[in-house]
Amino acid sequence: MIKITDLKADKIKDCRGKWTIEAEINGTKGAAPGGTSKGIYEAKEIDVEDALLLINGSLKEKFMGREFTQESFDNELKKTDESQDFSNIGGNTSTALSFAFFNHGFALKKSSFPFPLVNIFGGGKHGGFSDIQEFLIMPHEAKSFAEAFETSRQFYNAFKSLAEKRGPVGRNIEGAVTANIRQEDVFDMLLKVAEDMPAKIGIDAASSELWNGEKYVYKNSGTELDNGEQVDFMKEIAETYNLFYAEDPFDQDDFTGFSELKKKIGRRTLVCGDDLTVTNAERLKMALDKDAVNAMIVKPNQIGSVTLALKAVEVAKSAGVINVMSHRSGETSDSTIARLAVNWETPIIKIGLADTDIAKMNELVRLWNLAEKPEMAKL
Ligand code: PEP
Ligand code: MG
Repeated sequence: MIKITDLKADKIKDCRGKWTIEAEINGTKGAAPGGTSKGIYEAKEIDVEDALLLINGSLKEKFMGREFTQESFDNELKKTDESQDFSNIGGNTSTALSFAFFNHGFALKKSSFPFPLVNIFGGGKHGGFSDIQEFLIMPHEAKSFAEAFETSRQFYNAFKSLAEKRGPVGRNIEGAVTANIRQEDVFDMLLKVAEDMPAKIGIDAASSELWNGEKYVYKNSGTELDNGEQVDFMKEIAETYNLFYAEDPFDQDDFTGFSELKKKIGRRTLVCGDDLTVTNAERLKMALDKDAVNAMIVKPNQIGSVTLALKAVEVAKSAGVINVMSHRSGETSDSTIARLAVNWETPIIKIGLADTDIAKMNELVRLWNLAEKPEMAKL
């Protein structure tokens, strides 16, 4: 139990330059991240200034002097909100407070560390020319988190050098390389770098952003695919480039597309829900009923609290679904997800190489040094 003796909040900027909420409980901070390619079933955010008035006013009054566990604290936030989707107090308000509470009581409980799944080349709503939002690598042979971090960085540098030989390159909000390079060539370049630096390759197609209600529209490559063609395309790239991970290969309402693809590639590839499942135990159960996923993105702010996110994580674990802890594209130096990933034993953490994500990687390096007999997750 933790007695709340101080509770307040202020605003800080995220890596996109947007204000977000940093809450503080008994001197320990927690900040809400924000998404850019958000799913429609996520917890709703409220205006930051309104959130600050709420936290420093009525929420402070409600919580001060009382004792809570993480669960009772998060339940009280949910009860105060009274809506299904945190539209009254805001998922951003509750996430910042829930993170601050978690960080205040944090003790390292586990010693299995997640493999980083790192955004190397990007596009879509995060910025860049690519239709596929993220081309990801996971240094699966690393023996320590520090080694995995080092390999990821070297991989990024090597990929960037290859890209620079072809023309100008940039960097998007997640720190991924951006350049006007065809999808097929990006995959070939990733495979080339992986010859020297062992890594598995994956994608986040962020397909809800491609879906126009009738077709998947690939603006930069100039193609439009219907549902059946999208299944074929995803299967083809998974097989051609030996993808171990495919996130959001279909729109957030298309459980059938996920399930058809999983039937075809699910033995070798993680078919992962993000906008589909939104860290929501009930949405995950719908996906399980349809046999739609074998992996799930865990973004606590999609559901609005540590306790609600843990509920989804537990449902996933008991169904044999791989949990993938994940950053958002709008991050601060808050490193709560690094601590959650270890204590919840998520075998993967999806992350970028923007400075705000380096903070989380460094936290994992520190936790590794604190852990008794640390080891990389078994995958
Ligand atoms: C994602 O789609 O996995 C992602 C991190 O994007 P965002 O935070 O912009 O929703
Ligand atoms: Mg995603």
